Amino acid sequence: MKAIIKYAEGTGKVDFLDVEEKLCGDYEVVVEVRAAGICMTDIHIVNDLYPWELFSPLGHEFSGVVVEAGKVVTRFKVGDRVTTCKYGGFAKYAVKNENDLIFKLPDNLSFDEGAMIEPLAAAAFSVINRSKFKVRDFILIEGAGTLGLCAMQVVKAMGGVVAVSGTSRSLPRIELAKKLGADYTINIDKINPVNFIMDVTKGKGADAIFECAGTQAALDTGLGSLKNGGVLTQIGLYSKNPVVDLNSIVCKNQQIIGSIGYESETWMKCIELVKDRIIDVQSLITHRLPLTEWKKGFDMVERREGLKIILNP
Ligand SMILES: [Zn+2]
Repeated sequence: MKAIIKYAEGTGKVDFLDVEEKLCGDYEVVVEVRAAGICMTDIHIVNDLYPWELFSPLGHEFSGVVVEAGKVVTRFKVGDRVTTCKYGGFAKYAVKNENDLIFKLPDNLSFDEGAMIEPLAAAAFSVINRSKFKVRDFILIEGAGTLGLCAMQVVKAMGGVVAVSGTSRSLPRIELAKKLGADYTINIDKINPVNFIMDVTKGKGADAIFECAGTQAALDTGLGSLKNGGVLTQIGLYSKNPVVDLNSIVCKNQQIIGSIGYESETWMKCIELVKDRIIDVQSLITHRLPLTEWKKGFDMVERREGLKIILNP
C-alpha cells in the first residue's frame, strides 16, 4: 500500500511511497482509515523540526473501521468504528495494538469528528490536567488554530471566561471562535492585546493563558497580560527558540508550564463532550482531500489556509 512516510533524515524527505503492509499480530487490530487530519506537527516533521521514526507512516489524528482483529483481542471486533492516534493515518490501513490509545466511536460521531478527537484531547489535557483555573476565571487563548479553538471550547465547558487572539490573516478563525462561544476576540493587528486584557480585567490581567501560537509575539503578549501569580501553559511548538522575559516571571511570580499529549481518560472525556454536543469539532473542518492530494493539503496547512484539513484514503 502507499503511505506518507519520512524516508530519510533531513528537510523535506517526506513522500507518498509504497510501504510493506504489516500483518495483524495476536494483540493487534487493522484499522481501515476513513479520515485523517493534517496537523502543524506534520509540517514540522517535513521541515525536520520534529522527530519522526523513518518509514513509519505519518498521520496521528485519525478514525476508521476495524477490518481485522488478532486472536486474543478482546476490546474490538471487525466492524467497530474507532478513533486513534500516534502514527499510520496517512495510509489505507493502520495496524494498532489493542492497548494503544484506540477508542470506539459513538454512533452519532462521524469519521471526520473521530479524526478530531486527537487534537481535542491534546487541548483538553492542557486545560483539564495541566493548568489550574477556577469557574469564571478570565482566560486568554493565543492562536485560533485547531488547538486554540479546541482549548477555548474546553475552557468554556469548564466555566471560564475566554478571549481568543489571532492575526488579521486568521480573521475567519477568529470569527469562528466567536461563533463557538468565545466571550472576546482580539485581532492583534488592530488592537494591542495586552491593553485589551488589562482593560477587561480592570488592570488585574488574565488568570491563565494558553499559548497555542508558538511565536515570540504570543509569548511576550502572554507574559505581559498574565496576572501576578498566573500560569501560562505553552501548547504551541516553536520553530525557533524564543527569548523569555524572565524578569516578568520573577517580578510577577508567574509560571510557564508546558503541555503535550494526553491520557486515556482525556480521550474518553473528549468523546463524551463531542457526543453530547458540548464541543463542536465539525465546524473546525474546512477542507477534505483525497490522500493522493496530500501535498496540496500540507501546503495549505503550512500557509495556514482554512483550518483543519482532512485526508481521505
Ligand atoms: Zn497533531
